Amino acid sequence: MMPPRTPGPMKTAADGDLIRRINRHRVLSEIRRRGTVARVDIAAATALSPATVTTVTGELLDAGLIEIAEDEEPAGRGTAALSARGRPRVLLRLNPGACHVAGVKIAMHRVSVWISDFAGNLVRSTVVPVRANRQPPEVVADLVEDALRQACAESRLALAEIAGIGLGVPGFIDFSAGICHWSPVFGEGPVALRALMTERLGRPVFVDNDANLATYAELWRGAGQGHDNFLVVTVEHGVGMGAVVGGQLYRGSKGLGSEFGHTKIERGGAPCRCGQRGCLEAYVADFAILREAGRLLFLDGLALGDLEDPFEVQRGLDRLAEMARAGDAEVRRIHERAGEILGLGIANLINLFDPALVILSGERMQLYEFYERAMLRAARDNVLSAHRDRTPIRVNRWGDEVWAWGAAALALHELHLPPLEARRAV
Ligand SMILES: [Zn+2]
Repeated sequence: MMPPRTPGPMKTAADGDLIRRINRHRVLSEIRRRGTVARVDIAAATALSPATVTTVTGELLDAGLIEIAEDEEPAGRGTAALSARGRPRVLLRLNPGACHVAGVKIAMHRVSVWISDFAGNLVRSTVVPVRANRQPPEVVADLVEDALRQACAESRLALAEIAGIGLGVPGFIDFSAGICHWSPVFGEGPVALRALMTERLGRPVFVDNDANLATYAELWRGAGQGHDNFLVVTVEHGVGMGAVVGGQLYRGSKGLGSEFGHTKIERGGAPCRCGQRGCLEAYVADFAILREAGRLLFLDGLALGDLEDPFEVQRGLDRLAEMARAGDAEVRRIHERAGEILGLGIANLINLFDPALVILSGERMQLYEFYERAMLRAARDNVLSAHRDRTPIRVNRWGDEVWAWGAAALALHELHLPPLEARRAV
């Protein structure tokens, strides 16, 4: 016999506050997504009542977070822009001057900073070359703080004027706990990165996997705009992935999201940086390509032990690109094999997620010309026939700076949400 159900907790004032903040965020997100929008359209898109939208937008206007777009032509001119009573509709937009945020991307060989206003417009971007692989967390924190202070000084802003900071790191990141379980950037085990950086900078910090940041950038500014279901696959020193499902970034139950690069494609196969074997990225990422090239071609001056040195990796890849362009058949074959395996993996993703499109991004897209054909053929050959030729695969050659923009977008997204702890409790 089923035990009697215990009644749920009574609604409290704290619940009401949480709901108000979530509603505020939904309205802000809709304005951010649309650029300029009327209250009636916000109500339709969010399923909030017109009265709630009026209350929330009133609060946001009072707080200076949004403004009336008086100087813009109403969308759709003429009758479409008029209310039922024939008056021009009031259009709302974000107030760019409401605050500034910063996005920081830590790569193996540089730290990129992107400072934006509240509407997401670039104020300043700065790239600082560093050697950030296998460093103690305190050293990485120093590098980030220095780069951020430099970008603030160039923007004539004090660090205290930055309302929030998004921080992108390659590796396994528990977003909600702000913990980095593993990253090529750090030389040791789990790092409480959000707590470390929040204490160091004295500002709210949000830490995420860098592939998720690329996905935010695509969602808000790139090819993902207007799509509720799409995937971003990033090929860099590793292979990352961000999934947008139902219009939201998919984070999974532990906040670890989707680790496409560590899906297994061969039992007991090639060793991967994660400590396991046979992962997709152990055949596709730049360290894998260099390993193959090193074994087959005995590249001058490139020892396998150098594969973790970002500057050696870059030199090796540049040399391989030169050789491939010069028609070296073996080097081309290495890239094609990586392309085949990436295409096979992408076919599996399409079969699993049924996305509207797949976006390829990341620094290695500079080498795309060498594996494009093999990848597209493998993807096409391995998707279910119902998907064939119906899921576009697009390439985005954006660099680190736009990933840093994604980090700024994360900060903007998180700023007006209730604290992470409160969201976890509901
Ligand atoms: Zn792995």
